Amino acid sequence: MVWTGMTSMSLRPLAVIGFDADDTLWQNEHYYRLTERTFVDLLAGYAEGRNISERLLEAERRNLSHYGFGIKGFTLSMIETALEITEGRVPARVIGDILGIGRELLSHPVDTLPHVHETLEALTGDYFLVLITKGDLFDQERKLAQSGLGDFFDAVEIVSDKTATTYRRIFSRHGDGPERAMMVGNSLKSDIVPAIAAGAFGVFVPHELTWVLESVEKPVEAPRFREIDTLRALPELIASLG
Ligand SMILES: [Mg+2]
Repeated sequence: MVWTGMTSMSLRPLAVIGFDADDTLWQNEHYYRLTERTFVDLLAGYAEGRNISERLLEAERRNLSHYGFGIKGFTLSMIETALEITEGRVPARVIGDILGIGRELLSHPVDTLPHVHETLEALTGDYFLVLITKGDLFDQERKLAQSGLGDFFDAVEIVSDKTATTYRRIFSRHGDGPERAMMVGNSLKSDIVPAIAAGAFGVFVPHELTWVLESVEKPVEAPRFREIDTLRALPELIASLG
């Protein structure tokens, strides 16, 4: 028998696993919500809380295509909202406070979510693990460094958006394409739907807090859609693929 260099490893249904970072590996949205609460308090004299939050969300939605995802864009959207709500009368001191809470958000503690460490430890070495995240470059690099999870990953991709094209490119660069790749994350819109559209598996791990702009319908009909309650269930799910 002549071996052609194909090993059992290269025949496995999966070679590359992409992991989202925010609210998949560590807490993120929780800190945004705390900051938003402080922002609402800062503007309490000008409008009702719910109205302030709605206006902020509108500003964020408008600004996504200009600023992209992340804390810097969020801070600019808070300032814009403050100007709007006060019809330009917001005191400079309050603008200073908004910049301050934005900066604070950039240094929030990195709380790794349950079972992340053990799951990455179980998979690293057997699969090519790539962290795929959007957001501010500095912020994501800081969080990865502080999480202590960096050594589990073979590659890190900090991207401006997560589309099917993004996943096709990343899974081709680090493997042999989306066919033998999987994306794991808490956002149906960014992690799951586009990864499945690219041809990969999409494993949805819901987080109790998910930004409204990240929610779309679950692709329950897609053959490559999976859902697990916790990352702990991931190695077993992978083993079940064959
Ligand atoms: Mg996420």
